[in-house]
This record gives sequence, structure tokens and C-alpha cells, in this order.
Amino acid sequence: MELSQRITNITGGGSDGWDVFLKARAMIAAGTPVIELTIGEHDIRTDPEILNAMHRSALAGHTGYAMVPGTDELRDQVAKRIEDRTGVATERENILITPGGQAALFAAHMAICDAGDDAAFIDPYYATYPGTIRGAGARPRRIVTSPQNGFQPTVDELAVGTAGARSLLVNTPNNPTGAVYSAETLGAIADVSKDNDLWLISDEVYDTQVWDGRHVSPRSLTGMKERTLVIGSMSKSHAMTGSRIGWICAPAPVISHLITLATHTTYGVAGFIQDAAAFALSQGPEVEEQVAAPFRRRRALAMEALAAQNVVRAIPADGAMYVMLDIRATGMSGDAFADALLEQEHIAVMPGESFGRAAAGHLRVAMTVDDDTFVDALSRLIAFAKRLA
Ligand code: PMP
Repeated sequence: MELSQRITNITGGGSDGWDVFLKARAMIAAGTPVIELTIGEHDIRTDPEILNAMHRSALAGHTGYAMVPGTDELRDQVAKRIEDRTGVATERENILITPGGQAALFAAHMAICDAGDDAAFIDPYYATYPGTIRGAGARPRRIVTSPQNGFQPTVDELAVGTAGARSLLVNTPNNPTGAVYSAETLGAIADVSKDNDLWLISDEVYDTQVWDGRHVSPRSLTGMKERTLVIGSMSKSHAMTGSRIGWICAPAPVISHLITLATHTTYGVAGFIQDAAAFALSQGPEVEEQVAAPFRRRRALAMEALAAQNVVRAIPADGAMYVMLDIRATGMSGDAFADALLEQEHIAVMPGESFGRAAAGHLRVAMTVDDDTFVDALSRLIAFAKRLA
């Protein structure tokens, strides 16, 4: 019996990029201690106060079907958060609550791409992007950026890369590179979206993790509100990865169709999770800053550890919970380096190749272990690279 091409082709036939991660997990299961700097998961758990809110809500009976678009309270909270942070008027009707940012990314592409349409995205990219686009029936079209430009797309790369495409997916602060797009890059993204009549999907799940200045949402740029779908999530901002709660913010008619899609796919998000999320948002931005603080600190520790040598070079890490390291001076690929580092030093990092062509010869290091372990792992990684160079 044949399965659909849609599902069998999601990874495009190649590796899905998780080999080192899976090998590290197998080593740990077999009893070998490994320092894991792979996935974007905090080393803290969800705040007990948020869990108490979840518990209270469930006991109060919010365990039945919740409203498919999301509860009024949470949609209002999300709209307010977006309006407060960006200055763009945002209403409940602009918000669909989703089971996480990943489901939002899929739904957004379903909403705007027909079968066979080209959906552009920036390379290096978050590992699921091409598969999400294929899953929605569209054709992934990568815009390959360069390390010399800090992996920010240029005007020309954007213009050529999106000609004839239906949509453009961008992610700032960026996973995997840690780049925060400059005003110039954001302006170029807005211009090309208007010039090439694109829908812009703006993945802003790291919006609280900006180490210098503030996050700027492309939706707030002139003429962009009408053509932008913003992807948001509580995963990174509130250490709620396992609760699976996020949203799409878009023009009301788009949300109306997305609600129909949700009715026929997820049928909404658990009410007690939504109530916990509404409680978390009601705590304001200070809580979000506390959750982001360890990454801010470790990013500074990483810059210190990397100074005074030039075998391992950091791409400017201005945001998100990762630092991207250029290890091309060792002559090894990111894949080979990450595999050898795991075998010999028992340190697991993601090879750049897992995130596309542009990041070949690089490593993505997640800053997701305690400060001392993190500094120790980085200095061993640098010593390892020096021995190879
Ligand atoms: N976008 C990016 C860039 C991510 O890194 C992630 C998770 N690592 C997601 C979206 C999805 O996050 P979630 O589904 O947990 O909200």
C-alpha cells in the first residue's frame, strides 16, 4: 500500500539533520555522560506559578473542548502583548491560538500557498522549515546567505530569491545563527515583499531574546501589516516548550480562514493550557526577561571564551539561545567536527549542515546548560579545534 507523496516526501529524501542529536541521546541512554548543547530547550522548567494556574484551571473544569480560535482572554492578552511591543493596533480577531509555533508555521503556509507554489525561506534555517513547506504542498525555495554578511540576506539575494514566489519566511532573532536582522535587512524584506507581492511569514518565537536593543517586528513596517503573518510561541519566552502553545497574528480575514483550518485539524488547544498561558502573559515582560537572562549571560561568557584565538570564530550572536561558530579553519565539515567532538569529548553540538548549505563548516551551540558546564564545554571545543587546525 502506497502512502501519499505529501507525507513520504516531507524530509525531501535526505537526512532530517538530527543524527548527532540522536547519537548523543543513545550514548546517554547507554550510560555515557554527554554535555548536550543541541536542542533549544531551557535548562529550567516551566515556572511553578504557571503550573499552579494550569492546575487551578483544570480543577475548575476547563478540561472540555475549548473555543477553536482560542479563549477570548488569551487572544486578548496576545493581541495586547503584540500591540504593546510593536505599536501596531491588534485585536482579538487578528489572533489564532495554536498548539505551538510549529503548528502555526504549518497552518500559515497552508493558508497562503497553493499546491506547487514556491515558498521562500532564508538559509541557514530552522531545521523544520523545508519539511513544513513540503507538508503544506508548496515547494521550498531557499535563499542562501553568507557568513561574511552575518547570515543576513542582502537586497539582491532577496529580490532574486523571491521572484515568482508566493511567500517569504523570515526568522529574527534567528535560529540557528543568533543573528538579529538590522534595520537595513528588515527594510529590504519589507520592500521585496511589496515589490514581489509576497505574503511574509515572520517567525518571532525568539522575540524576548535580543541582547542589544529591541526586537523589531516586520509587521510594524509601513505597508506590512496587511501582508504579514506573525508566528509566536510561549515555548522560548516562558520556558513552556512542552505545553505546546503559540499563535498566529494576521489580518482578520486570514485568521477567519485559519480558524476553519483549525476546526478541521487541531480543533483547538486545551483550555487549561490556554489559561496557564494567559496567566503567564499577565505577569508581564519582567518574567520574560528572567527567562531570557541565562542566555544573555552565557552569550557574554561565550564571547569571552572565544576571544584571543582565531581558530573558532563566532558569528555575531545578537539574539536567541544559540551561538554559531565558524570552524572552517580546522578544514573539517560541521558534520565531521560535531561527530568527532561527540566521540572524543562527549560534547554534542549541532552541525551547521543540519540547517542548510549556507551554514556548512559551522556549528550551532545551544547555550542550554549551566554557566560552568557551558564555559568548560566551549573551552574544550576550542582546544579540540586547535588540535585539528
Ligand atoms: N521557530 C523556530 C525558529 C524555532 O526554533 C522553533 C523551536 N525550536 C519553533 C519555531 C517552534 O517552536 P514551538 O513549536 O515550540 O513553539
